[in-house]
Formats: sequence, C-alpha cells, structure tokens
Amino acid sequence: MSDEFQDTRKRKFAARNQIAILPFENMNFSQFRESLDAASLIFGLEATFLSDFYLTCDASEEENKRKQRDAMRVITLAKDQLEEAAEGTRYHLVVANQDLFARNLGFVFGLANREMRIAMMSIFRLVHWQEDLTPSRMQERILKEASHEIGHLRGLGHCPRPSCLMAFSNTLEEVDEMLPMLCIECSKRLRAVGI
Ligand SMILES: [Zn+2]
Ligand SMILES: [Zn+2]
Repeated sequence: MSDEFQDTRKRKFAARNQIAILPFENMNFSQFRESLDAASLIFGLEATFLSDFYLTCDASEEENKRKQRDAMRVITLAKDQLEEAAEGTRYHLVVANQDLFARNLGFVFGLANREMRIAMMSIFRLVHWQEDLTPSRMQERILKEASHEIGHLRGLGHCPRPSCLMAFSNTLEEVDEMLPMLCIECSKRLRAVGI
C-alpha cells in the first residue's frame, strides 16, 4: 500500500468525524466556540471552526420584507460554498445572528438538512431576546440548539420528552426546559445509527 493511499484513507476516515462550523455573513462566534465544541463532542464529532470564512447569500425579496432569512434557501444556495470551504468534512453547521424562518414556521432557532449534511442555527432569539440573560444561560442555549441540529444531522428525529435535547422547541421556555443531554431512548438510537 503506498503512503499516498494510506494518507488518503486516513484523511477520509478522520473527515467522517468532523463538523465544520462556519459563520454566516457578519456573525462572530468566537465567544460561543466552547459551547459549539461541546455540542459537537456530544455526537462524537470534532469541530473545525472556519471563523474567517465569509459565507454569504443575497437576500430574496421575501427575506428582505420579513427581515429574516429563509434557512432552507440559504442552506441550498450555500451548499457549493460550504463544500469548497471545508472539503471532505462530513457535516457543516452554519451559525447566523439573523433571525431564521422555515416554510411553515414563523421563525426557527435552527434547521438541518440531513441529506445535504448541512444545518443552520441562529443566535438571534437565544441571545438577544432577553435583557437579563446570564452568560451561563446564554452558553447553555447555544450548546443545546447546536446539539439539537447536529442530532438531526446524525439521523435523530424529534423526541416527545421535553427534557431531551431532541425535543422540538419553538419558544425560549421550551429551549430552557431541555437538559443539555440526550434521553436514554435517543442515546440508544444514536448508537444504532453509528457514525
Ligand atoms: Zn428539530
Ligand atoms: Zn430523546
């Protein structure tokens, strides 16, 4: 076996466990790196932060009108940019500070497309919607939302237990009710799907 062949195999194997975390437009996630790192580790993934990468996508008329970004539209349009930025990386998580929406929902904290292996999340409501938010609560919310979307990328669906990371949440109260961990059932399911 040639060295080159072995190197390629090693690289491919390593890339299977990697998630590239990228900022969307003017997002600066330096203060959230630890939480984003921890979220990746819950799912056995190693995070690579591409903080200098400027991921952008022109806003549609609807997005401009709503002052929100259509998460699925951005993910779809940004796919090529993402693949170029983090070649060979299995998963991508885009972090935005703009509010997001999805087809049937007035807003979403985040959204994942498992087929494309890309997720997008926003800190907009998690961080800016509460004046007396403590730094630890803020980090906890980022950790939980990032973990939730990574869980979808790894093949988990929504969980009926409100305290589980994979519970569906559409209010800050619901986010705060989650524990920063998977329930037993979701842990088992994660094991079953493997990496
Ligand atoms: Zn979800
Ligand atoms: Zn669960």
